[in-house]
Amino acid sequence: MTMLAGKTAVITGSNSGIGLGVAEELARAGADVVLNSFTDRAEDHDLAADLGRRHGVKARYIAADMSKAEDCRALIETAGGCDILVNNAGIQHVAPVDEFPVEKWNLILAINLSSAFHTAAVALPFMRAKGWGRVVNIASAHGLTASPFKSAYIAAKHGVVGLSKTIALETAGQGITCNAICPGYVLTPLVEAQIPDQMKVHGMDRETVIREVMLQRQPSRQFATTEQIGGTVVYLCSPHADQVTGTTISVDGGWTAL
Ligand code: NAD
Repeated sequence: MTMLAGKTAVITGSNSGIGLGVAEELARAGADVVLNSFTDRAEDHDLAADLGRRHGVKARYIAADMSKAEDCRALIETAGGCDILVNNAGIQHVAPVDEFPVEKWNLILAINLSSAFHTAAVALPFMRAKGWGRVVNIASAHGLTASPFKSAYIAAKHGVVGLSKTIALETAGQGITCNAICPGYVLTPLVEAQIPDQMKVHGMDRETVIREVMLQRQPSRQFATTEQIGGTVVYLCSPHADQVTGTTISVDGGWTAL
């Protein structure tokens, strides 16, 4: 498939999980891809090289820490701008508001929300110059709903939804769209890392936590896959979605319909 041939996509936080799945699907659709995370290991660069080889596209890895404004800007500048920007980097911390460490609050807001502002601020002029661009922000079902103990994550993801709508309004009619994807649970390293704590809190084994705590939120009773999130990004970059802007697309097995 070459629908996105000639386009360059930057995907933040893409050396694992959903970001890597998004990079795979964009490359499969013919886009050149820039992978990113804050580490700068040989295996990060190898990951990009392998992806590029498999899909016959240009692929590179640029290390940049999305908690830092200057790194966010440098990522887009080093990439030489981009046609498709996917803001995906994200972290999570679980604690009640009155025990939530301030430094964790600041870090989550910086990585999960502010990075999307900084990257877009640099990427949008490149997109305007070409009269075409796609900004896709990976929010969450937690960008539309709340649950206890995830205040920073939920505040950040609600912010991502609001930022996406604002960018959409500021770019409407310029060949640029901006949307937020709101996944439910996807079994990635971020979710895997929560399972041991949930096992302790609930006194359950792994399978019971997955079935009764996590998938209990999702009427489909199934995890979404990274390929499905990536496919939704590809759809938003396709001509079918030219008039889709300023909205959220839930990929959550019915979570937010409840
Ligand atoms: P993950 O831990 O596999 O991926 C997170 C990515 O962000 C990794 O590549 C990590 O290296 C990168 N990252 C972390 N800190 C960074 C920093 N300072 N600078 C640059 N990159 C950084 O988790 P995931 O589940 O794939 O999460 C990806 C996105 O999807 C996040 O924004 C998350 O909130 C969102 N999301 C995930 C789920 C889910 O169930 N997995 C559900 C809804 C939304």
